[in-house]
Amino acid sequence: MALASALSMLHCRRRLARALLVSVTALTGSAVSAEFPPGWVNGERLASPAAGREQWLTTGGDAGKSHYSRLARINKENVAQLGLAWEYHTGTNRGLEATPIVVDGVMYTSGVAGRVYALDAVTGGEIWTFTPAVDMQVNRAACCDMVNRGVAVWQGKVYVAALDGMLYALNAASGEVLWQADTIVDRGRGYSSTGAPQVAGKVVVIGNAGAESDVRGYVTAYDLDTGAEVWRFYTVPAGPGSAAESAAMREALATWDPNSRWDIGGGGTVWDGMAYDAELDLIYIGVGNGGPYPQSIRSPAGGANLYLASIVALRASTGEVAWHYQQTPGDRWDYTATQPMVLTDLEIDGETVPVLMQAPKNGFFYILDRRNGKLLSAQKFARTNWASHVDLETGLPAIDEAAADYSSGPKIVFPATVGAHNWHPMAWDPERQLIYMSTAEMGNLIYELDAPDVPRRARRLNHGAALIFSHDLEAVFPYLPPHITAAVEQLPEWQDKEGLKGRSMLKAFDPLTGEERWSVPTSGWWDRSGVLATAGGVVFTGSDTGHFRAFDADSGELLLELEVGTSMLAAPMTYEVDGEQYVAIMAAWGGGGWSYPHPTSAQYRYGNAGRILAFRLGGGPVPIPEPLPPLGPVPEPPAQVGDAEDIARGQALFMANCAICHSNQERSQAPDLRRMSPGSHAAFELIVMQGLLSAGGMPSWDDVFDHDDLRALHAYLIDLQAEYAKRKNSGDESDSSGAPTVISTF
Ligand code: CA
Repeated sequence: MALASALSMLHCRRRLARALLVSVTALTGSAVSAEFPPGWVNGERLASPAAGREQWLTTGGDAGKSHYSRLARINKENVAQLGLAWEYHTGTNRGLEATPIVVDGVMYTSGVAGRVYALDAVTGGEIWTFTPAVDMQVNRAACCDMVNRGVAVWQGKVYVAALDGMLYALNAASGEVLWQADTIVDRGRGYSSTGAPQVAGKVVVIGNAGAESDVRGYVTAYDLDTGAEVWRFYTVPAGPGSAAESAAMREALATWDPNSRWDIGGGGTVWDGMAYDAELDLIYIGVGNGGPYPQSIRSPAGGANLYLASIVALRASTGEVAWHYQQTPGDRWDYTATQPMVLTDLEIDGETVPVLMQAPKNGFFYILDRRNGKLLSAQKFARTNWASHVDLETGLPAIDEAAADYSSGPKIVFPATVGAHNWHPMAWDPERQLIYMSTAEMGNLIYELDAPDVPRRARRLNHGAALIFSHDLEAVFPYLPPHITAAVEQLPEWQDKEGLKGRSMLKAFDPLTGEERWSVPTSGWWDRSGVLATAGGVVFTGSDTGHFRAFDADSGELLLELEVGTSMLAAPMTYEVDGEQYVAIMAAWGGGGWSYPHPTSAQYRYGNAGRILAFRLGGGPVPIPEPLPPLGPVPEPPAQVGDAEDIARGQALFMANCAICHSNQERSQAPDLRRMSPGSHAAFELIVMQGLLSAGGMPSWDDVFDHDDLRALHAYLIDLQAEYAKRKNSGDESDSSGAPTVISTF
């Protein structure tokens, strides 16, 4: 680690030299503020009304993370005149999910695995960059690409959590590392980190990801200036034999079976949504799903399993629980409560109430009184069958066990694990009192896989259930056991074939009444993006097809469609410098569970080179990337190294360990192993066992596979490639679409 951090420092110093040059040239421009030092965000600035205007001070823009701007220079009338102001190439080709921050004309944002970029917000000129030295072994458990959802900027420092859970404080002027803290308690488990840190009072708080990967979730608070650990809050108990960490853990323990699978960790990771209320000095964290999924394995006697799938309010100075609200008691469906939260004030029954709003995976839009956690509203915003409604008195969902309990057989459960809404930030327009968000109407087939005594798989996926989502479930049937398909055919959800096809839409939604104001379909259920709303009456969003769009906030009418040639998932944001308003977005595809492009995806045609795009009125045309070259013939694999038994065993090993990244589809992000070169075959052992390609994200597996396993894996891949080469090289174009129907099987 010492060497790694020394290299990282060296890298930064080189950048610093360049940064100084850039700063000198910028002195005459607009990017330097005389009033504040670089990266100067504090409580006063965040609380001032101007925070929502020229600046974009948090990933959500303001203290409440509304993703709404009071800027109106770009508005309904003129938005069609938007063109490119500048673009910046990140030099990466994985997913970009962060919303940039802009402070006094400087943009700070994060990219692949926790890289940080500081750019002149007027020109896109690079001021400094930071590339953390990431331990790529972590990538073995990172479920959803090597993404990062943003930085925190506070009093001259930029905070970022790298994929391997290392938290960095950087000098906002130079990118120099001021301190770093290892936030991972046990590197023998499947922790990673992808969320943006949250500043809360005197501390900066970060959680982790990997609820399915053999972990026990927690968040940790560090001193803003020194990086010293101040407190840690575990989201689930360690088990009855362990010393309970706190009153909160004793309370939580009573909601679990004493014979729970404590060895697998319980899950409950806080991988995204957090928010801070300075007045109440409370930090709100959103807790993830249970691990493994089936409660019959995780906590066989049932129980609520606190604090899974909950919003928990912690005192920022101590980490003590002030209140909690559990959305999905005893979660069995991967229903995280980690989605972004918005803090605002609402008029309810004549009273102004400080509220917290969230649209989590489970399909209900929650409004809580953020002083005490009281549930004020829980309107459905997408198709759900796991619960009919939420009782406002008890706060409990009315769970439909007949529809959703899969302990005795397969079920088709709505929403799917992809969520009715996911991490893609929603926007709250306080003038129109509307939420704008990207939603999905989709169910997935789920059934239990293993007996309760299934062994723990250290640092790997421990689902305990098969989860299958597809727009054509019938096409998946040949791959499923006959007793499963027979049972599925009896389900009421199965009879409605149209309803089984997933779809996604951008939706304007009244959170208090549940009324949908308007909605616009996207290109498919996978096509979901973050949203920006503005006082100009415009809603901005990107798309997988590579189109940047603007809609009328009142009617949903399409006002602008700019083809940029890069798939987008992240939320746009806006800022103003010297009287010019800009709208910016990070562009590149990535994310959860399916690492290949759909044929309508810009990624399929143009690749996935990461870009930051900024637009302004009267800007220029947007350059479209060069189209990808044709795929060409499939290289012939070497001679087979195993027999039929090896191939079958290799396939099982591959599905259990490798398939989450290697979908083996055309133009997929992780290499399509059906197109391995003779060189890759020759180096197969070096790559898989010794980490030859670890710098590119391929970890080593020598602690999981032995040499017999390696041979079986190779035998399977040779067989796969031989079959594919035979088909493709004889001119069969049948699966050149790269659009399989099986999305995720574990
Ligand atoms: Ca999950």
